[in-house]
Amino acid sequence: MLTPVRMVSEAAELAARRHNGMARKGRGSEPYINHLAEVANLLAQVTDGADAELVAAGWLHDTIEHTETTREELAQKFSARVADLVVECTDDMSLAKLVRRQKQIEDAPHKSPDAKLIKTADKISNIGARIVPHPSKDERDDLADYAAWADQVVAGCRGINPRLDRIFDDTIARARAALAETGG
Ligand code: ZN
Repeated sequence: MLTPVRMVSEAAELAARRHNGMARKGRGSEPYINHLAEVANLLAQVTDGADAELVAAGWLHDTIEHTETTREELAQKFSARVADLVVECTDDMSLAKLVRRQKQIEDAPHKSPDAKLIKTADKISNIGARIVPHPSKDERDDLADYAAWADQVVAGCRGINPRLDRIFDDTIARARAALAETGG
């Protein structure tokens, strides 16, 4: 097994390479790696850095869904636990977007506690990126739509880490305030 520092460092490096050239949604189309850094760092913060595999899975959580990466590769390079966590956070991209969204709401309560943490951190990061100054109508609609859906997914992920739940609630509150301010 890799040492904790190497576990996280190798995960960050692989994520950076695999997601190279991709942009995230929201705030100025930042590099995708910024999203992964936010998710990994949130997980490290709320667990006081006690779980390197969880933080590594945070860096890697979108690799199977968005890049040419397999469970086997992650299991070999990192650990079976890291690989299984990433698989748990992977949507079936052959399904239509609305079906995938509904499935996330239904599946969330049945995920492992660690996958629930990753999913909550993912939603915090994605809502945060959609809160932009002077939003267009499309940006406002996208934030309202995403935040309402994320709230339903995270409803099934609560109760594992109160600090993370609180950050999610603060992020939803910021989204609501931003929408109220712009008349949404
Ligand atoms: Zn993500």
